[in-house]
Amino acid sequence: MSSNKKLLILPGDGIGPEVMREVRRVVDWMDRRRHVSFDIEEGLVGGAALDAEGTPCSDETVARAKAADAVLFGSVGGPKWDSMPFDKRPELGVLRLRKDLGLFANLRPAVVLDALVDASSLKADLVRGLDVMIVRESTGGIYFGEPRGIHKDANGKRTGIDTEVYTEDEIARVARIAFDLARKRRNKVTSVEKANVMQSGRLWRAVVGEIGKAEFPDVELEHMYADNCAMQLCSRPKQFDVILGSNLFGDVLSDLAAALTGSLGMLPSATLGAVDSSGRRHALYEPVHGSAPDIAGKGIANPCAQILSFAMLLRWSFGMEEDARLVETAVEKVLGGGLRTADIMQAGMARVGTGVMGEALVRELDKLAA
Ligand code: NAD
Repeated sequence: MSSNKKLLILPGDGIGPEVMREVRRVVDWMDRRRHVSFDIEEGLVGGAALDAEGTPCSDETVARAKAADAVLFGSVGGPKWDSMPFDKRPELGVLRLRKDLGLFANLRPAVVLDALVDASSLKADLVRGLDVMIVRESTGGIYFGEPRGIHKDANGKRTGIDTEVYTEDEIARVARIAFDLARKRRNKVTSVEKANVMQSGRLWRAVVGEIGKAEFPDVELEHMYADNCAMQLCSRPKQFDVILGSNLFGDVLSDLAAALTGSLGMLPSATLGAVDSSGRRHALYEPVHGSAPDIAGKGIANPCAQILSFAMLLRWSFGMEEDARLVETAVEKVLGGGLRTADIMQAGMARVGTGVMGEALVRELDKLAA
């Protein structure tokens, strides 16, 4: 039996607990068939935590997240809490975790599975086999830079201000993550900025170039303006391997890349922090989708994004590449076999609910591991 791996599960609100139940089936399967035991704690976050603890993410939950090897997060929010004051919004739960755990690199894969190639917004030929990883800096840049705010002048006219600020250390640490990732993939990084019109973009380009040359000379590096990258993602997306961008450009480009895959219910993500003195890297894994209040409680949510987030966790936090691939292959096979949740339903396929999809995945895992 492998040594215990400490996992904090925070299902959150809406469909969060529903899709997390299906992850638990996969965890049980791992325990049973792969002899990997997880030391699992569960906690409250978002609206559920507001109701029970009066805050979207308590100090205790943060402490438990810090003590864990990895956090698997569901989703938060919903109409019940829409009228809460800004500092009590359920969404602050995940923001606090990202900040307190120092999670600065957001990884969002955009993968088009053969079975879902027709769900893309682009022609099938352009996206068949697409596998792009977007690395977005997630604790700096224009979303946090000072000064910021809306100011009134003497005549009552308002000015809105946001400031893009990046230090070279902030750029270097996220660049290293992108280069490292590329080495495990197709060995190419496309770094995006607007070095033609932004000073922070000039620094971004310089620092990424320096890190690439000094530490990753074997990885191909190209620099691209962010607007051109958006166009290229829509016209020739398969040219990319790893795309590295600031908080702002990474945000926009990762949503664009997500649209190429066509299905919110399929998209996982990871947010990684620095390696601490004990050699451990804080990390949080979550689906890209939210709590989907419109379908919560109906048993029809697609659990694949949450399960694929767990596969990312196996790979990045526990180095369990083979098991991560097993889970990803099981998802691909089940979809290839014609099962579909409502969000990815296509003509001629069998429509199933959350639980049946989870059961089918475990059966497929059994077959793959036989
Ligand atoms: P959403 O992602 O929850 O839903 C958008 C649409 O996609 C809905 O029609 C929903 O039914 C569908 N959908 C999403 N996930 C699905 C799944 N797994 N299976 C099937 N269909 C799925 O986005 P929204 O409606 O804009 O936001 C709802 C709530 O979620 C809001 O309170 C928002 O703030 C919150 N939210 C939270 C996070 C997070 O927890 N990180 C992220 C985004 C939104």
